[in-house]
Amino acid sequence: MAVVSESQVLDALRCVPDPDRGGDIVSLDMVSGLTVKDGHVLFSIEVDPERGPRLEPLRQAAERTVQALPGVLSVTAMLTAHRQAGQSAPQGAPPGGPAAGSAAGQAANRRGGGGGAGGRIEIEGVKAIIAVASGKGGVGKSTTAVNLAVAFGVNGQRVGLLDADIYGPSMPRMMAISGKPTSPDGQRIDPMHKHGVSVMSIGFMVPEDTPMIWRGPMVQSALTQMLRDVNWGELDVLVVDMPPGTGDAQLTMAQSVPLSGAVIVSTPQDIALLDARKGLNMFRKVDVPVLGIIENMSYFACPHCGGRSEIFGYGGAKAEAERLGCEFLGEVPLDLHIREASDAGEPIVLTQPESEHAAIFRAMAGRLWAKLADPAAAGVRQAPRILIQ
Ligand code: ADP
Repeated sequence: MAVVSESQVLDALRCVPDPDRGGDIVSLDMVSGLTVKDGHVLFSIEVDPERGPRLEPLRQAAERTVQALPGVLSVTAMLTAHRQAGQSAPQGAPPGGPAAGSAAGQAANRRGGGGGAGGRIEIEGVKAIIAVASGKGGVGKSTTAVNLAVAFGVNGQRVGLLDADIYGPSMPRMMAISGKPTSPDGQRIDPMHKHGVSVMSIGFMVPEDTPMIWRGPMVQSALTQMLRDVNWGELDVLVVDMPPGTGDAQLTMAQSVPLSGAVIVSTPQDIALLDARKGLNMFRKVDVPVLGIIENMSYFACPHCGGRSEIFGYGGAKAEAERLGCEFLGEVPLDLHIREASDAGEPIVLTQPESEHAAIFRAMAGRLWAKLADPAAAGVRQAPRILIQ
């Protein structure tokens, strides 16, 4: 089978004109982050923010052109709008609802006022955005994000779930969603809907077994598109499943999304190894309040006798959370039903609504909602108001 190269892709893109500027998108230096791997092509097209909404046909033309090359299996082109230096970010959160003027709005204002962090993304209609993060992979971050999102919905909030774990998207599996999202107007994508939650994941666009190699600008571009170019509608809470770890990619995300707060998920060992502390410090560094720590796989719940084994000791997370000055939101046991439910795409909050586990997740979602509605409780600092008279 023919193997496609980066230069062939660029040559093809030289035939795609910018409709406004009289030149092709390669000569105009608009193509960035080109990655070609085993026939899968990814790139972004950088455009001025004000032209972004009109240029979806250009993006599609670029995708079609590359798709026509022999040896190309899939193409993902993304529009990236780079804010020019000196241009200020749009301010404030949308009006309405108890949380609107509080955590979300302040997070947006705080970061808008900070300057510096170019490319911060605003999402109209979304009152609060919570990151679910972990110091390392495999601690149950995605399981927690899914169950919290569903629990918000069960508790009565309008909720979205963004799978920002672009290196290992798990939402198609954990929410049992197949198929691709559609774009009725050719400009913005409708999220998928399942279990009362609006969901967006890069996993809907790229086959699950496709190895993904992301370069810096691509990460930003993918996140921008999944936040800004999705019809989230009116949401009370958007839960963001972050990529695991505390590296540069995570830091960039924490900076570029107007987060109302973050939740750190960790296991007892993780707490002992201080990985959770790294996560906490990362958010503090970018001035995002940590709403609390959740201890997952806290103890082993035996499926046979119902007994509880505290394999890694007990109470460590709570004590550590106190030491770190942040709230301990709760503990979730290592439980066979949680694993089976989560890997079957049927979150336990829904499949076993009467269970102790469902109650734990609902209580944590309730506590988080209360904190979002009350900035003082959330630890969200009030941004200084600038009055122009
Ligand atoms: P992460 O997002 O941190 O990489 P996942 O949520 O993908 O972790 O979880 C890793 C694996 O552990 C999955 O198979 C999941 O079903 C399982 N798992 C997560 N939390 C629990 C739990 N409390 N009890 C049992 N299995 C769990």
